[in-house]
Amino acid sequence: MRIPFVAGNWKMNLSVAEAVKFLQEIKGKLPDPKTTETCIAASPLFLESMVQENGDSPLIISAENCFYEDEGAYTGETSPKALYEMGVTHTIIGHSERRKYFNETDDIINKKVHAAFRNKLTPIICCDETMSRRESADRISWVVSQVTNALQSVTPEQAEKIIVAYEPSWAIGSGKTASSDEAEEGCYLIRQTIADLYGDDIADQVRVLYGGSVNDENADDILSQTDIDGVLAGGASLKPDSFLNLANFL
Ligand code: PGA
Repeated sequence: MRIPFVAGNWKMNLSVAEAVKFLQEIKGKLPDPKTTETCIAASPLFLESMVQENGDSPLIISAENCFYEDEGAYTGETSPKALYEMGVTHTIIGHSERRKYFNETDDIINKKVHAAFRNKLTPIICCDETMSRRESADRISWVVSQVTNALQSVTPEQAEKIIVAYEPSWAIGSGKTASSDEAEEGCYLIRQTIADLYGDDIADQVRVLYGGSVNDENADDILSQTDIDGVLAGGASLKPDSFLNLANFL
């Protein structure tokens, strides 16, 4: 049985003080992590304060990105080693905004997945789909190749720990969420790709999330789909109440 995973991605929003206040407000109101795991991904500037404020609350504190080297002369980058030392346990990798604005390729994303595992971080790998891709003939191979390339040389023991998010970029921040059928189709395709790479047992364990304009009004439909194990919410994760509504949906 896969434990549902509800994640927020704050992107470049809020301040350290607001981040800490948010955690204080949700403390004690989160579901039992045996029933639903909850996670917030935030700016590296906030993470240390968030880990401290979080204490033994079940909220998972995640980075939104990390670099593919552990340390060295990489001005301005975020070290996965330092994230782990700080108490961070997860990191998003390959969000469509990283692919779009920072030219992250599948190769870079694959290196980051390895860097995450090397530093005991669980990667939340994002798989993107633009509207033109969605309407094109190579739509399936586009999703399949992103998953396959991200997982190059990833062992089966590592693969069963990954979390993958299907995030059609036309639905991100647009208020235009995918229909539950479209979301299920994308998440099913990701699971099938993992099954082709690692077999059904591992594919059955991997959590696949949907992201793109999810909120507490449309989550019900999305979360009822067979291959969708949770959500990655941007805008709807910025307010404690709406994040708690998502977290306590199931
Ligand atoms: P959104 O963002 O919920 O604001 O569309 C989702 C994401 O980018 O992860």
